[in-house]
Amino acid sequence: MLNNKVIHPVLIIGAGPAGMTAAIYLKRANVTPVIVDKDAPGGKLNITQKVENYPGYTSISGPDLAFKMFEQVRELGINIDYADVKKISKDGDIFKIETTEEPLYAETVIVATGTAERKLKIPGEARYTNKGVSYCAVCDGSLYKDRPIAVIGGGNSALEESLFLTKFVAKVYLVHRRQGFRADDMLVSQVKENPLIELVLDAIPVEVLGDGTKVTGLSTKNVLTGEDRILKVDAVFPFVGSDAQSDMLEGLDVKDDKGYVLVDENMETKISGLYSIGDINAKVLRQITTATADGSIAGIAVSKRLRTLKK
Ligand code: NAP
Repeated sequence: MLNNKVIHPVLIIGAGPAGMTAAIYLKRANVTPVIVDKDAPGGKLNITQKVENYPGYTSISGPDLAFKMFEQVRELGINIDYADVKKISKDGDIFKIETTEEPLYAETVIVATGTAERKLKIPGEARYTNKGVSYCAVCDGSLYKDRPIAVIGGGNSALEESLFLTKFVAKVYLVHRRQGFRADDMLVSQVKENPLIELVLDAIPVEVLGDGTKVTGLSTKNVLTGEDRILKVDAVFPFVGSDAQSDMLEGLDVKDDKGYVLVDENMETKISGLYSIGDINAKVLRQITTATADGSIAGIAVSKRLRTLKK
């Protein structure tokens, strides 16, 4: 307590795999952190239909894995509170965390807010969001049973979610702007072998078409020939990558030019006591495994820091 303010020893912002792992390691080192998030615990796991590369599970649904992590956190007695964090600043040794509610204060902050889906930024996308445009195949795929849909992108997300959507829909048009894919070779082979997926390559989405209430099509352009093609689809699922959710760190000079956070080997930024973990960091590989690795490193580093400060 300082001037009637509660000062948390450690505040973790974000309850995805990175944030929850940091909390588990802290608690096991006898530090009780508070986690805050504006959404349900699990982060992107909650919109991932299947995880097949997290050791220990040959195959598990994203929400199931999120819930298992959440249960472990809850059993350790760690609270996850609601807060939509807008800005972090440091005054002396104390961080002020401005939220849409009351501000929070902490001696140490671990940012674990991940990334947000990138938008196509084409006409019709915003107008038909939740009316056929969806960024979550797990949530909305079943709405398009036996209907044609389009998926945009050539990375792991677009290909994984295309395969998942074939369980419901009549046809998936996979629209990708070049011939080569960013996705793993195994996924590319599975997509190419799937009779329900038609590849629309060297093509970009131009406009989401609709009748005022729902999506009726997607107009595309071939980038090599200039040819226009209208795909008659009921839904458009863009999976064109994501951007760091790091606006709250504006003014602290801890980000690279793309908005990802720069940290040292202990996951600490150049601001003492400000740590950052998971997909929000500048790194070569964004996976659940790398997020949990970051979380464990930060958890141990922060517990050591607090022990040193106490001495
Ligand atoms: P990503 O790997 O960045 O791929 C984005 C795709 O969208 C690229 O193919 C890109 O084309 C295309 N694209 C970008 N902007 C576009 C635009 N405006 N119009 C049309 N196409 C556009 O993103 P992601 O698939 O979401 O994956 C993000 C990270 O999570 C990656 O590191 C990925 O490996 C990881 N991830 C891993 C798994 C897994 O291991 N199971 C699952 C999901 C995601 P270009 O290729 O031409 O740039």
